[in-house]
Amino acid sequence: MDRMKPTSEIVVSPELVERFDIAGPRYTSYPTADRFLPDGWGAHLAHALGSRARTLGHAPLSLYVHLPFCASVCYYCACNKVITKDHGKVAEYLRYLEQEMDLVAPLIGAGHRQVAQLHLGGGSPTFLDDDELTQLMSLLAQRFELLPDMERSIEIDPRTVTPKRLAHLRTLGFNRVSFGVQDFDPRVQKAVHRVQPFEQVQSLVEEVRRLRFDSINLDLIYGLPYQTLESFQKTVDQVLTIQPDRIALYAYAHLPARFKPQRRIDAETLPAVATKVQMMDQAIHAFMAHGYDYIGMDHFALPEDQLAKVKRDGRLQRNFQGYHTHAGADLLGFGVSAISQVGAAYSQSVKTLEAYYAALDAGKFPVERGLTLESDDLLRREVIMSLMCQGRIAFETIEQNYGIDFATYFQDALERLQEFEHEGLLIRTLAGLEVSKAGWFFVRPMAMSFDKYLWLHQDHQRFSKVL
Ligand code: SF4
Repeated sequence: MDRMKPTSEIVVSPELVERFDIAGPRYTSYPTADRFLPDGWGAHLAHALGSRARTLGHAPLSLYVHLPFCASVCYYCACNKVITKDHGKVAEYLRYLEQEMDLVAPLIGAGHRQVAQLHLGGGSPTFLDDDELTQLMSLLAQRFELLPDMERSIEIDPRTVTPKRLAHLRTLGFNRVSFGVQDFDPRVQKAVHRVQPFEQVQSLVEEVRRLRFDSINLDLIYGLPYQTLESFQKTVDQVLTIQPDRIALYAYAHLPARFKPQRRIDAETLPAVATKVQMMDQAIHAFMAHGYDYIGMDHFALPEDQLAKVKRDGRLQRNFQGYHTHAGADLLGFGVSAISQVGAAYSQSVKTLEAYYAALDAGKFPVERGLTLESDDLLRREVIMSLMCQGRIAFETIEQNYGIDFATYFQDALERLQEFEHEGLLIRTLAGLEVSKAGWFFVRPMAMSFDKYLWLHQDHQRFSKVL
């Protein structure tokens, strides 16, 4: 493919990237899930659901279902998954999902609250066969009011689907798909134990287009074994020939002490940090030169995609699945490790099948930990989400909503942010803070300035690097 010259005025120098490449959270929530507290959260969730049902009436809902099964392990994986060849496990899991839905749905007044968004994640949702996916959708439809035009998205492992299976997903109402690609180089694919040739993904994407799904996302990872600047550029070029509506570009974080499958990756084969930075830089410039809008963090979208539109309109949102388009919706998560966000309460389910089944057998919510946000948490959540989604913080709005003087309350944070201001990444005026175009690549370290828990515990190192 002909390489186009970058048309973007955005310059992100490798020096800046290296300087701000510190460890920190991704802020799919604030406080982050690792701050949730153990014990007694089933009761809290029930209480939160009940009080939302009373106060919110008809507010929309988002649903997430975690389907943990995968047929084989990808060595870079950091997800909560169950590797198995035993397909019989799915039927049992669906039975328990049904029980969990039966516990939750009556509490929220499900008949009154319409579902505007559904996401199936994993693991590999397409480990389920067509009949099992149909059954899952019926279980949901029997208990929740699914809006006919709702956003229905599913993560797809390209190795598990055929054109016929994609057509079935379309008949089930799915209108958004996300393919896990990571890299197209055969040597890299072999080293991470995930072989899926470019031609296979390309033809599946063509089929998805033919079936008129609304949006296609491809996930990429840089920093994998044997990747070089040239090889990753080739993957980026191949992705650009496919032209997905959205691209997610993640950095691989090698944490073998935490994630067992990563022990199968030889650290000697990983690219150096400086090379990783250049890979990211190259990819960003290529995407933007080919007309993609930068959404934030690691996401890109074509200007006509819904995500790019809501970003332009200042309505971008963030939850446990990353950036999304629906404001104000409570999120109900089902399945192992799923997280729910109901008003000011978060809760997360237990992570193993055994614990999940045991809790439901006992008629309890399978919840392991959670948090009810205090007013300081709510304030900081609004500030961090405003920065990460809108790229700006309006002092007056925050002051009115929370009865504070911004400069006094956040004196420490504003001091920490000065280094971003000096680099032109953040602009401070009397009215507020505004992230510059180049600054969008650094919103995560900027947001960390407002995270009370990080500064209280000084434990940044528990997280992966920011960029
Ligand atoms: S990366 Fe996805 S498909 Fe691979 S093992 Fe992890 S959850 Fe399963």
